[in-house]
Amino acid sequence: MDVNSSNIEEIVRQVLDSMKGGAVSAPVAAAVAGREVPKTARVAMLTQLEKFELKEFAIPELGDNDMLVKVEGCGVCGTDAHEFKRDPFGLIPVALGHEGTGEIVKMGKNVKVDSAGKPLHVGDKVVTCVTLHDDPDITMYDMNKQNVGAADVYGLLPDDDVHFNGWFADYIIVRGGSSVFNVSDLDLDSRILIEPCAVLIHAVERAKTTGILRFNSRVVVQGCGPIGLICIAVLRTMGVENIVAVDGENKRLEFARQMGANATVNFKDHQGIEALTNGVKAAFGGYLADFAFQCTGSPVAHANIYKFIRNGGGLCELGFFINGGDATINPHFDICSKEITTVGSWVYTLRDYATTFDFLKRAKGIGLPMEKLITHKFPLEQINEALVTNLKMEGLKIAVVNK
Ligand SMILES: [Zn+2]
Repeated sequence: MDVNSSNIEEIVRQVLDSMKGGAVSAPVAAAVAGREVPKTARVAMLTQLEKFELKEFAIPELGDNDMLVKVEGCGVCGTDAHEFKRDPFGLIPVALGHEGTGEIVKMGKNVKVDSAGKPLHVGDKVVTCVTLHDDPDITMYDMNKQNVGAADVYGLLPDDDVHFNGWFADYIIVRGGSSVFNVSDLDLDSRILIEPCAVLIHAVERAKTTGILRFNSRVVVQGCGPIGLICIAVLRTMGVENIVAVDGENKRLEFARQMGANATVNFKDHQGIEALTNGVKAAFGGYLADFAFQCTGSPVAHANIYKFIRNGGGLCELGFFINGGDATINPHFDICSKEITTVGSWVYTLRDYATTFDFLKRAKGIGLPMEKLITHKFPLEQINEALVTNLKMEGLKIAVVNK
C-alpha cells in the first residue's frame, strides 16, 4: 500500500481510534508500521550439542491458513537448555524457542481469529501454545499417559522445508490449526512470561480443587526461583495476603517480599526441621499454614513441607517438573493423622493460557514487579550465551530479545 502525505492524517486518526478500542483495518495497520517482509531471514539452528548457528533461509510462500510473525522475544526454558546440552528429543538440527512472542506481518486469507475466537489482524501481537489436536482441556498428563493424540509445540518441531519453526529466529511461520492467541494488550515482558506463569495458574487451579485455599488462608510457598515467585504473585492477584516464603537465599527472599510475601524464612537460619517449622510458625504469628505450595525440586524440601501444614490443611506439589529422586516421609504423621489433602500439578492446559493473560494484567495493576523476573536479555546473535547463562542457573528468567 502506498502511503502519501494526504492520507497520513487519516491513518493517524484511525490508529488513535484503534487505541481507544476501535478496529483499524489490516492494510492501514500494515502501512503505518511499514512492514516490509524480507526475502530471507535468520533462524538460530541448534546444529550440534551446545552450538547454535544463525542460518539464513528464504521465507517461503504463505499458505492461506498460515501467518508470518516477526519475532520480538522468546524466553529460554529449561526444556531448551536440556535439548541444547543433551538433545534428549533427538531433534538436532532444530529451531528451538517455544516461549516466544511477536507481531503478525502477513496473513493467509483464511486467517481470521485466534484460538479463543478473538479477531487477528496484521500488526497484532501473538503467542503460540501447545497445539493439541483434539481437546483444549487436555493436560500434559493426558498426553503422556493416555495417548490422546498428537501435540505440537513450535520450538520443538523437527526441521522441515519451512525452517521457521521456532521462536529463536527473526520470523516464525505459524501454520493453520495451531494454538495461537492475540495478546496485543500485553507488553513484551509480560508476553515473554506467559508460559511460566501458565504453570502457576494451573497449579493454583489444582490447589483450589481441595476446597482449602481461601482469601484468608495462611499460605506457605517453599522455593523462591521463578516458579515460587510467580506463585506468590498469582496468590496475591487472587487476594490471598497471608503468604510466607521459604528459601535459602536472602536475595530471593527479598524478591519474594516484593512479589507480595508478607514474611520470609531463610531455612539456613534454622538448624533441623523442628527449628525450621517453628520459624515458619513464628512467621504466621504462631500458626501453621492452611495451605502449602512446594516449588523446589529437592526431595528434602518435599519431606519438610508437611511439617509446616496444620491438621486438615492442603498441599500442592509442583516442584518436580522432572524426576528429582525419591523423598522420605512418614505417612502416619505427615498425611494420615493430619488428614492433609494433597494435589500434584504439572504444566498447564490451553484454558490456563487464556486465564494467564488476565493474571498478567492484574499483576501489573496491583504493582507487582513482574518485569524484574527477566534478569537477562540477549540479542539473537548471542543465543549460545543465553543458553549457557540459563544452564549456569544465573539470574531468574533469561530471554532472547530481537531489536
Ligand atoms: Zn517452556
